[in-house]
Amino acid sequence: MAFVRGKVLAWHEMSSMDKATVIGIQEGGLYKLKGQPEKALLHNEVSSSELWHRRLAHLHYRALPILSKMVTGLPELQIQNEGVCKGCALGKNSRKKFPNSNNKAKGILDIIHSDVCGKMSTPAIGNFLYYVTFIDDYSRKTWIYMLKSKDEVFDKFVEFKASVENLFGRKIKVERTDNGGEYTSNEFKDFCKGEGIKRELITPYTPQQNGIAERKNRSIVEAAKAMIHDQNLPMHLWVEASKTVVYVQNRSPHKILGNMTPEEAFTGKKPDLSKLRIFGCPMYIHVSSNKRSKWDPLGRKGTFVGYSMTSKGYIIYISGQRKIETSRNVTFDEETAFRKSKESHTDEDKEEQEAPPVAPITNSTQEEYVLEEQEESDRHESPVDPPEEEKVSRKRPAWLRDTLQEAEGHSAPSGSSREKKRPKKFSSYSTLMCHIIDSEPSTFEEANKLQVWRDSMMEEYQSIMKNDV
Ligand SMILES: [Zn+2]
Repeated sequence: MAFVRGKVLAWHEMSSMDKATVIGIQEGGLYKLKGQPEKALLHNEVSSSELWHRRLAHLHYRALPILSKMVTGLPELQIQNEGVCKGCALGKNSRKKFPNSNNKAKGILDIIHSDVCGKMSTPAIGNFLYYVTFIDDYSRKTWIYMLKSKDEVFDKFVEFKASVENLFGRKIKVERTDNGGEYTSNEFKDFCKGEGIKRELITPYTPQQNGIAERKNRSIVEAAKAMIHDQNLPMHLWVEASKTVVYVQNRSPHKILGNMTPEEAFTGKKPDLSKLRIFGCPMYIHVSSNKRSKWDPLGRKGTFVGYSMTSKGYIIYISGQRKIETSRNVTFDEETAFRKSKESHTDEDKEEQEAPPVAPITNSTQEEYVLEEQEESDRHESPVDPPEEEKVSRKRPAWLRDTLQEAEGHSAPSGSSREKKRPKKFSSYSTLMCHIIDSEPSTFEEANKLQVWRDSMMEEYQSIMKNDV
């Protein structure tokens, strides 16, 4: 690629500059790409499906053609051989299934599910260590709020309630959570009583009751990890990654909604995805002429880390200053991001040494341990042999185990036997580990048909007996 006399020229790496085509032109101080940005990427033989898989928080390839019909701004996409995706390989666990309550709400805000995720082992910018999610049962639309401590959950619920109720003129009727201390304070109880909100506190070890909130948090964690690892980003960006996942998943297929996204189910409008870009891709922020001197560069470099909720701008990470800012006037370099995502696993040992320890995130409640143990049963069905260390300690999922190891000061040193084994299963993992968001059986009968679920019910029962609960 070259910038010549106000034009952006691109040519295939096997050809020469005289075969170049014009893919962009200069406008003011910036070069603007012509047409769809993915067209430029396609010069390097990137398929649209591969590109949108990454823009959509590593959404399963099977969901892409479905989504094309449910939103605007997305080209017709085919299911294609996805090849290697580093994010999926390093960020996602195998698909786990457990059933959901079949008492679906009849209307928006009738039932709100909520759960806290944390404590994270890596504080984010702003010193956040947890997040809380609120999920509307009817539409499955999710809201995420960052927390420095769990006792902020009440304030965030009040904030969430005011914003959604004012927007839609409807009242929250039921709030369904686990019985963690952050939900059971007198302050919380009194507030709900005063507002006429029925509290449904879930008994531990009954995943079918609070499965929606727990599954959503796990889905967010996995996709956020995939996006962070995909671009070798620092782990403290888990806040921006998690918010981006929620934004994208609200605009992605959901099994119980049929041909509608949560966003459309909630607002009645089809979302427009044309502004989505690969999380973590390099970007250039245009600096207006009144803010720079004659010899200053026309733009500054940053990293794309999300979509502003309050403006049409993009959220940008300035790594040298460990700072987050928002701008609309930007140019993306998704080609570099894509190349990084496709980097051969032969580079993995080097990258892993540079990367921060795996998994910034833990779930805090006891019942989540039980859920994860159930889910490990799915792994037995995987054709991929787990590394030796995983065979020894199956009780916890890899990402949780790593986090706990890190928290306990036992994180595996770089280049350990486990890390070196990972690349061997790279391509098969990339196929196995992507999944349709929140795919879930809608009735108990449907769930009961799943051998996986029967197995996990048995595991759960054994776990309960073992813990003498
Ligand atoms: Zn992926």
